[in-house]
Amino acid sequence: MTVPLLDLVAQYQTIKDDVQKALLSVVERQSFIMGAEVAQLEAAVASLSNAKHGIACASGTDALLLPLKALGLQPGDEVIAPSFTFFATAGAIHNAGGTPVFVDIDPDTFNVSHQAVEASITPRTRAVVAVHLFGQMAAIERVMALAVRHDLTVIEDAAQAIGARRQVDGEWHMAGELGTAGAFSFFPSKNLGAFGDGGMMITQDDALASRLAKLRLHGGAKQYHHEEVGTNSRLDTLQAAVLLVKLPYLAAWSAARRRHAARYDEAFAGHSAICPPVTDGANEHIYNQYTIRAERRDELQAHLKSRGIGQAIYYPLALHQQPCFAHLDYAEGSLPHTEAATREVISLPVFPELTEAQQDAVIEAVTAFYA
Ligand SMILES: *Cc1c(COP(=O)(O)O)cnc(C)c1O
Repeated sequence: MTVPLLDLVAQYQTIKDDVQKALLSVVERQSFIMGAEVAQLEAAVASLSNAKHGIACASGTDALLLPLKALGLQPGDEVIAPSFTFFATAGAIHNAGGTPVFVDIDPDTFNVSHQAVEASITPRTRAVVAVHLFGQMAAIERVMALAVRHDLTVIEDAAQAIGARRQVDGEWHMAGELGTAGAFSFFPSKNLGAFGDGGMMITQDDALASRLAKLRLHGGAKQYHHEEVGTNSRLDTLQAAVLLVKLPYLAAWSAARRRHAARYDEAFAGHSAICPPVTDGANEHIYNQYTIRAERRDELQAHLKSRGIGQAIYYPLALHQQPCFAHLDYAEGSLPHTEAATREVISLPVFPELTEAQQDAVIEAVTAFYA
């Protein structure tokens, strides 16, 4: 049996009629730009995330870029971010005019280490991008405490973590809720995926919300009047319509991912060559990825490929090791937990529609490799 890493067709089959109706409705109205669905989606995602404002935009990358642009970074201004993440985290810092300062991760959760953040703060530090990697939140309350002490902006890169939550002092907080701004991606492979690119920013700050709403529309709230230079970064009404159909299913889809993860955890327990992912006790994980550490990882990947089992390595090269950041001069070994992760991780199929038989095939293929 072959098993894909992600099966978007299977998901589409479950919601096809409603999606087609929603798309057709936009088409009939020819309401492609900033139609009613965009504001509805902004309100719904803000509400899900305990945020006062939601501002839709063209991608998760832009959802990171615009809040960083709003900071008005000057040459030499530093923004701290983990090195073990998708490229957009650091690309946005660079494109906003900042210098990325890469820090190491907590080896258990793969998330940014707050101690490493603290150790990297300098007088030039303006902001921190805290990434909630693979679907569980970083220790955002610790990062926020540092931000208050050092007067820093915090952007939560919640591209992989929409609807994830974390308990702080007995209270649940949603991904994106506590930072200065939170960034979501609706890239098709994220837990809430559009039919193309899309993103959203959330914030509790009224002034920042209206600033971001302007920045995505060429810097003007009123058409043809521009207070500053922004860009074109809107979410299409068609995408918002798809996302509004999908949003009510998100909690059940994430719960299904958690069930699959628990079944893998059980199946891999006792296999010394496999280290299942660790969930921080304060977190509710949404498993955008189920990422194990594996001995002889590259051989395992080749074995799974030959058996038709979907897998991917997120990420094979950390950001401080990228050719485009060579000028930042990070020596090999400078971020040891990050570098170890790039050599050891592999992600397995955990999409909501994964059947028991498919999961059995994945488990069998992985365990057979080490038998
Ligand atoms: C997907 C992703 C982004 C970028 O989102 P796009 O919608 O693809 O632009 C940013 N950060 C992380 C961690 C991501 O996984």
